[in-house]
Amino acid sequence: MLYATEFRILRGVPTARGTSIALERKPLRMATLLDLDAFTASGASLQHGVTVYFEDEMHDWAWRDGRLRYFPRVHGEALDAVAVYAEEDRKPVSVVLNFCPECGQPVSEEHRRQGCCAQGHKLPAL
Ligand SMILES: [Zn+2]
Repeated sequence: MLYATEFRILRGVPTARGTSIALERKPLRMATLLDLDAFTASGASLQHGVTVYFEDEMHDWAWRDGRLRYFPRVHGEALDAVAVYAEEDRKPVSVVLNFCPECGQPVSEEHRRQGCCAQGHKLPAL
């Protein structure tokens, strides 16, 4: 999953043609915030259609000489957006089953490979 590791949240970006806001650096990516709370709670995850909506450079936004013009796909007169300066694609944390979810007994390495606990309960594939 993609995460923004360096970003700036821009509140109430005007979207009317011909307007622009000051933004000192050119972002790597611009996205409209769909759910600021979810974005924050997830540690700035960039999930298209969930936390953010990715906007295309040139079509939807343009940066030049410290000014950002924003005309996103998401409609609204003033939108919250995120200017992404750095991002990282992190794999979801892999989960190792140490205990059988069925009986709660510790699962040995060998049983983990066999896919069932010592009691014969089938372990869920992760
Ligand atoms: Zn079990």
